Amino acid sequence: MLYPERTFATVDHIIPTDARTRPLADGLAEQMLTALEDGTEEFGIRFFNVGSGHQGIVHVIGPELGLTQPGMTVACGDSHTSTHGAFGTIAFGIGTSQVHDVLATQCMAIAKPKVRRVRVTGSLRPGVYAKDVTLHIIRTLGVKGGVGYAYEYAGPVIEGFSMEERMTLCNMAIEGGARVGYVNPDATTVDDLRGRAHVPDGEAFDRAAAWWLSMASDPDARYDDDVEIDGTSIAPTVTWGINPGQAIGVDERIPTSASFADADRGTADEALAFMDLEGGAAIEGVPIQVAFIGSCTNSRMSDLREAARVARGRKVAEGVRALVVPGSEEVKKQAEAEGLDQVFRDAGFQWREPGCSMCLAMNPDQLVGREMCASSSNRNFKGRQGSPTGRTLLMSPAMVAAAAIEGRVADVRRMLT
Ligand code: SF4
Repeated sequence: MLYPERTFATVDHIIPTDARTRPLADGLAEQMLTALEDGTEEFGIRFFNVGSGHQGIVHVIGPELGLTQPGMTVACGDSHTSTHGAFGTIAFGIGTSQVHDVLATQCMAIAKPKVRRVRVTGSLRPGVYAKDVTLHIIRTLGVKGGVGYAYEYAGPVIEGFSMEERMTLCNMAIEGGARVGYVNPDATTVDDLRGRAHVPDGEAFDRAAAWWLSMASDPDARYDDDVEIDGTSIAPTVTWGINPGQAIGVDERIPTSASFADADRGTADEALAFMDLEGGAAIEGVPIQVAFIGSCTNSRMSDLREAARVARGRKVAEGVRALVVPGSEEVKKQAEAEGLDQVFRDAGFQWREPGCSMCLAMNPDQLVGREMCASSSNRNFKGRQGSPTGRTLLMSPAMVAAAAIEGRVADVRRMLT
């Protein structure tokens, strides 16, 4: 193994978010965790295990610890590694065999992608978040629109985003077909990195910061494609189908089968039938049974603060199972210091331990039967949340909180006063 000091590990997909006593109740999860503990020890890899204070979803803890820095190439065995591009890194999700290659050689063979600049202009209206922007971009450009491209996000809306918002944006680049999402490093990036555990300090920080800023694209850089999206036109966005591009504003109607081109009608019909939704009906008001706030897309402090703004002083609707799962032990600690856990508990949400939880079906947090879930995660594929017939509506954490309170898809703008 080459350069073990450049490799880091955590446990996220398989870890339960309630009881985490060992051995884990799921024998296979226990086996995987033990193998990870043994392997990282044998090869000298730093492992952020449960209880270390730094365990969490890999795409939350990397930036949190300052392991993700501009100009780096980052590879990780998870599709949503594009998240790290928020820091001006080139970050790839890789498969298991490529993980072997990277561990052995610190290299990987990959074709050079074309670059599409996606400029988001104007400004976002209240109640509209980075999640809505990323869903809107995928809706506009298509789930396969980014195949062969890296997406460089730019424009006044992106430049005004915090690093957490940029991470949400880049996280879902992969859902639009782009293997890489990227934002130029700037003063916001440098400010965010200052003081993080794996970032140099003093003069070394100033030297690093100057180098990081030099990574940004030249003002006269040429792109293979350039797209402009009007941020002012974006509404709180909800998916109605079985891929993240099947999304509409919460105030729109679900598209009818007839509104699709012949080539897309089959997928649309399949989605409407699976979701049991009617073309032409409003998405607002669709009943839900589960609400999930978490995942590497939306489990950071700003996500929890916005969801708590909606939950404060309200109650989860009867019959709704609502979970809040912080992205890392550090996020959990900070949220508890701010009293957010109590806000959620008082409203009737479950407050869990960090992990991927209900984003995917590799731990005990799963949908049951045909349950409809308002989810702040990133994939609404059939079976993604554990039940083969379970249904997922992707939306921002604030919108999930609103849906949990109302027991149905709700327009968060009416609840943010
Ligand atoms: S939260 Fe979901 S998408 Fe993100 S790393 Fe975990 S399983 Fe993958």
